[in-house]
Amino acid sequence: MSPDNHEVRKERLKYILFVIILCALLGFGIFTIRKKSDTSNQPALISAEETTEATLQPEETAAAETSAAEATEDTSEEATEDTTEAILPTEPSAPGPIAAEVQHLYVRINHTQRIQLDLPPGVSQNDIRWSTDDPDIVDLAAGQVTGLQKGTCIVTASYGEEHVDIPVTVRELTIVNGITYVDGLLVVNKSYSLPAEYDPGLLPITEEAFNVLAEDAAKEGLDLYIGSSYRSYDFQEKVYNSMVSGYSKQYADELSARPGHSEHQSGYSIDCNSIDNNFAETPAGQWLAAHAHEYGFIIRFPEGKEKITGYAYESWHIRYVGIEHATNMYEQGLTLEEYLDVKSVYDDAEEETEDDAEEAEENDTPDEEE
Ligand SMILES: [Zn+2]
Repeated sequence: MSPDNHEVRKERLKYILFVIILCALLGFGIFTIRKKSDTSNQPALISAEETTEATLQPEETAAAETSAAEATEDTSEEATEDTTEAILPTEPSAPGPIAAEVQHLYVRINHTQRIQLDLPPGVSQNDIRWSTDDPDIVDLAAGQVTGLQKGTCIVTASYGEEHVDIPVTVRELTIVNGITYVDGLLVVNKSYSLPAEYDPGLLPITEEAFNVLAEDAAKEGLDLYIGSSYRSYDFQEKVYNSMVSGYSKQYADELSARPGHSEHQSGYSIDCNSIDNNFAETPAGQWLAAHAHEYGFIIRFPEGKEKITGYAYESWHIRYVGIEHATNMYEQGLTLEEYLDVKSVYDDAEEETEDDAEEAEENDTPDEEE
């Protein structure tokens, strides 16, 4: 080997070494850029990287290739998302079903009731579209329903593809000889009174229905009997006045009715067995709660509805309304006040405060009752 040849080889080796180092540096540089773009979602970086893709060398490390694949996936996903957002319809999508808090709404002529909705997250009452199949029966203003004339129609609340249909019945209140009726059902509570001379005794329709009920209960080995039923105006006056003088007007109003305001004067009400707050827990009390409607009776002052009926829970006090109405109220979980769209508040009561209602609920030793 000549010295010249040796020099040439040396030069070649230097050159090869230089190329190898250059390639290594280039490879390391690309690898670093890819690592950076993996942890950031900036499209600018990714696209910069994509242009480098062409210059990738076969000797790239496996790690670099993996990161390149991931980066490409990220990019395509982002692109898809962007396109989806761009072509999203302006119509609201349905994030979940909407439902009404009532199965059936009852509203009187010239009265307004609000339909409360259970809405999915992100949807407000303001987003809801309202419509009715009979604008002669109700007037709609958002969720506010005003009765126009007697009848039943469907009110629809919709949002996107979701909707809920709520049957609405419009009722009419009439007063005949001082007695208040709503669609033929007699109403007597804190808001509506009976004349002092109204003196029907226990009505035969009430007594007959109760006798059938009691007979059927007896077949199950249960004893249900009339503890107290009709009370005249004069009798109620004595009861109420003795409560006022013995305790206070407020206390008397919570537990007893003012004369003319007792449902016992109507001839439609019965107190079952002896008045006892434990009655609800007895087999007879449980049977009554489950079956009274089958005979046309309702539990008139249910638990949890004290603010609506104006009275504490009375598991023993039943009111005759007929099988159809009683079944409707039982199945829809409504009090007579809700079913007829009437209030139960004395004229002189400023407004029932929360304290009053709580006291009425807490009081569990009634000497007398509505
Ligand atoms: Zn009673």
